[in-house]
Amino acid sequence: MTDNEPRMRRAECGICDTAFTDDTVVAMARSIAQHWNAEHGEEFHSTQPFKREEYGGQHLHGDEYAYTVKEYYITVYDVLNPGSEDCGPFAYEYVKKPEAEDVCEDCWRTLEAVDGYRELDDTGWRTKYRCDACHQERRIERRKDENQQITEFAR
Ligand SMILES: [Zn+2]
Ligand SMILES: [Zn+2]
Repeated sequence: MTDNEPRMRRAECGICDTAFTDDTVVAMARSIAQHWNAEHGEEFHSTQPFKREEYGGQHLHGDEYAYTVKEYYITVYDVLNPGSEDCGPFAYEYVKKPEAEDVCEDCWRTLEAVDGYRELDDTGWRTKYRCDACHQERRIERRKDENQQITEFAR
């Protein structure tokens, strides 16, 4: 495990409330992919499954056999695919409310991996952190917003 491998606490499926509680990012991504393939296959109806498995082959009668079909649409890599919009370490399409131990709330690097960090004012039961780099970035963004407002006001 590297310094920048967050210890996951939990996350929820992006469209139902199923919770995942694996403790590593990869294990959790695997659970999420399995869950989506098993429960939300209809979400991918426009896509061909990349893999299809048939189980059983139980003889019913005559030429008829009963199969259980399992279709796979996404893999662990799709869940981990860092797109333009992420939700923690995951692709945002599949996941909501990810939580990990001791990571920056914004960039999801672990506190061991960042140069410095601060605790955020905490309203919930867990302590949240933000690294100095992200804090700095937020201050710049805020200043930009304020300047924008001043400019608009002055017009
Ligand atoms: Zn779900
Ligand atoms: Zn950060």
